[in-house]
Amino acid sequence: MRRIGDWRALERAPTQELKALQDARLARFVREELYPFSPHYRRVFDEARVAPGAIRTVADLRRLPFTTKQDLLNAQVDPEHRLDFVLQPSPEKIRASWPLSKKLGLLLGGAAKREELRFAYTPNFVTFTTGRSSEPVAFTYTPHDLEVLGEAIARMFDVARVNALDERLINLMPFAPHLAFWAVTLGGFTTGRMVLPTGGGKVMGTDGNLRMMERAKPTVLVGVPGFVYHLVRQAREEKRDLSRVHTVVLGAEKVPPGLKTKMAECLAACGAKKVHILGTYGFTESRLAFIECPTEFDVSSGYHVQPDLSVFEVIDPKTGEVVPDGADGELVYTGISGHGTCVLRYRTGDLAVGGQTWAPCPHCGRTLPRVASELKRVSEQHALSLTKIKGTLVDLAQMGFVLSSMAEIEEWQVVISKKGDDPLELDELEVRVAPRNGLDAEALREKVKKELVAATEVAPTRVQVLSLDELVRTLGMETELKEKRFLDRRPK
Ligand SMILES: [Zn+2]
Repeated sequence: MRRIGDWRALERAPTQELKALQDARLARFVREELYPFSPHYRRVFDEARVAPGAIRTVADLRRLPFTTKQDLLNAQVDPEHRLDFVLQPSPEKIRASWPLSKKLGLLLGGAAKREELRFAYTPNFVTFTTGRSSEPVAFTYTPHDLEVLGEAIARMFDVARVNALDERLINLMPFAPHLAFWAVTLGGFTTGRMVLPTGGGKVMGTDGNLRMMERAKPTVLVGVPGFVYHLVRQAREEKRDLSRVHTVVLGAEKVPPGLKTKMAECLAACGAKKVHILGTYGFTESRLAFIECPTEFDVSSGYHVQPDLSVFEVIDPKTGEVVPDGADGELVYTGISGHGTCVLRYRTGDLAVGGQTWAPCPHCGRTLPRVASELKRVSEQHALSLTKIKGTLVDLAQMGFVLSSMAEIEEWQVVISKKGDDPLELDELEVRVAPRNGLDAEALREKVKKELVAATEVAPTRVQVLSLDELVRTLGMETELKEKRFLDRRPK
């Protein structure tokens, strides 16, 4: 595997060495690339009166303001600033900012070297944010970035212990201009392992995915939790052979242990031996992803960060102050290895319970920093008017966590609507569940209500029991890019 030698030295290096490497990469990236080539950040540095050379360590970053989603949106809608986050080198900028030795190399290399440089900085690929609440934002990649992403995914294969030459991965991620599908596919190109992309449920349907899986005899399944569970459940139903599967990688954070257990039971019924199920964390703005290492289902290692490519700071979301190692806070991201669209101090809006730690991983022994796997999104607290008195805060993510964990439930969906579709009426919270075979509907209704109240202090207006087929259809498992877990039907 390309450059894996670096990785072997890196993954278990002493913490001080890793921190020094991260500081040095950050300083060089700011000085030689971000400040000279990014119109947006040149302005940010100048306005903050911070010289690029003043950023020598990660701790120095706090002298600079944060970047927000709004900053990205503002730039995107303004034709004059649309490309402000994209690195745009020019001969003049290089002359002004690069050290002599690097410039000399360029000069002596002649036309071939200049072409190489142009190649490394010219975008040739784009992914978009999913944009639930706002316009999708474009993130460009150059050939250099695709190499970095490929290398990062190759290292993730290693952390996941997907190492054998005959590994076969089925990529069940939805086919779309989103990071997940392409990252997994690219991982196959870089590592030389077989990665078969099915495009997910919308492209091939449940049956097409299952047939592909049985034919390819995969060792690894990669996908979003809802669709992977749907497939392995169906595979058990149809007595399909999935006996070679040893790992499931899920494109989602904090998968409930109960759901992992349910998946593992289905895979065991299809002949699989011991299966590891790993969560990942990735977002469009990072153009990278981060993975857990194999553990028992009820513990998480956290996401292993590659400190030569990325910097995470953890801040108090109210004050913006950086919090100590291991403390809860919002994740703030700075890429230190990219070309194309680059962000510095980007506020992810993800609150990590347990923040980031530099303590060696107790599960794999790697000394890489790790981000805690329990993440909460600020936007996932929804205010609903469930009573006449006032809005009730409902944590839909927590609700999903409870429902996914319940062994009695095969599938679920939460629907928010207005009583009688009247915009002036109260909100209604309906929970739809498909029970496991042979369960009593009335008892299940009671149990669902009780568990939701215990975990979220909110009782659903009603619990509707549906057949599995009905619910799979309503969720759009075969028709949507991402299944519709939470449906908001209130008139806008
Ligand atoms: Zn680990």
